[in-house]
Amino acid sequence: MRSRTGLLLVDIGQLLTLRSAAGGPRRGASLSELGIIQDAAVLCLGGKVVSVGTTKDALRDPWLKKNRKKIVEIECGGHVVLPGFVDSHTHPVFTQPRLVDFEKRISGANYEEIAEAGGGIRSSIDGVRKASKSALTQEIVTALADMARHGTTTVEAKSGYGLNAESELKSLEAIRAAARIWPGTVVSTFLGAHAVPAEYRGRQPEYVDLVCNEMIPAVAERKLAQFVDVFCDRGAFSATETEQIFAAAEKHRLAVRAHVGQLSETRLGPLLRYQPASLDHMDHVNDADLPALARSDTVATLVPGANYFLGSEKYPDARRFIAAGVAVALATDYNPGSSPTLSMPMAMSLACTHMKMSPAEAIAAATINGAWALRLAGGKGTVEPGKDADLAVFDVSDYREIPYWFGSSRSALTIMNGVASGQLSSQGRT
Ligand SMILES: [Zn+2]
Repeated sequence: MRSRTGLLLVDIGQLLTLRSAAGGPRRGASLSELGIIQDAAVLCLGGKVVSVGTTKDALRDPWLKKNRKKIVEIECGGHVVLPGFVDSHTHPVFTQPRLVDFEKRISGANYEEIAEAGGGIRSSIDGVRKASKSALTQEIVTALADMARHGTTTVEAKSGYGLNAESELKSLEAIRAAARIWPGTVVSTFLGAHAVPAEYRGRQPEYVDLVCNEMIPAVAERKLAQFVDVFCDRGAFSATETEQIFAAAEKHRLAVRAHVGQLSETRLGPLLRYQPASLDHMDHVNDADLPALARSDTVATLVPGANYFLGSEKYPDARRFIAAGVAVALATDYNPGSSPTLSMPMAMSLACTHMKMSPAEAIAAATINGAWALRLAGGKGTVEPGKDADLAVFDVSDYREIPYWFGSSRSALTIMNGVASGQLSSQGRT
């Protein structure tokens, strides 16, 4: 079913509108406000939500009575409907799973031993450099379709396995080509500073110069990305190098975000001066940085799938961030090395069980705060008139079941910019 003519969802058991009086990203108590309407209906026209209310009121609406035949009606059978998930951190441009890493890590091998056995990021880089743009596009399209099957309607997609100008631009062009095919929304991010490629080993400053002086200008000129990202951590790029890359991005009017604190602590003050949309991972953060982070609109995007898949017993301290008033989002970090999941419900389940976020907090972090992390909160992340018609229908009767049923998807129907994908078992006239 592909339709942008008009959709009326009726008989929704719980509609999570995520409406809130709080302005800006959700913090503290406002992270739990789901704005639930029981027995609800949503009308979407031209790819936008136009009205939200109860089924009873919708069916009495004079305009709807007159135009009902022109509209596709979706009988939701008491299921839960919420804003489509905003997965604000993914690395979908790769060609192969990293099974050597997986098996070697299980047997206790360290990073160097995995690299020696032919695994590690090097194998992903080789794959992307050799792949055609159309092959990469196909990989991304397949991932996006699978994400939609799990309720995701907006995806941030990073380059970062090319690590030379040609392959980074090819990766971003593949993201753009995939975005044109998929009915959902894709935000692209240039991550040339993901790692230092082997040919620049020992010459890291030269690679940073290449990122700043060649790659970023080319990305900006071709309008291939909205964001520039840096992997700022031990063994990757230093805080000083991250500032250098942020300054180059700023010069070319690209917004910034960073991977920070996954392996080691970086002080956040100098990075916050560039007003990053998001700082991601955040396993190691200095307490003294929390007040400045809480005062900013920078979102802390937590990616527990990576902690899970790397077999870590430690997870980011979500409760500490929430208590400090920091805006927290959840994302999958979908990538072949450390988080091969594209399921937002799985990320939410891990957030509940291992980071002690409540189901309500996990839902807000996976929708409206993800939208803030991509600077898309004006159109995404809540179900309100005027917003994009991005909705996820789950085959459950209580929203807490979404993170509860871990490891399987109860996602039944996903609507992206007014285009429905999937099939409800109890679906009526469509
Ligand atoms: Zn990442």
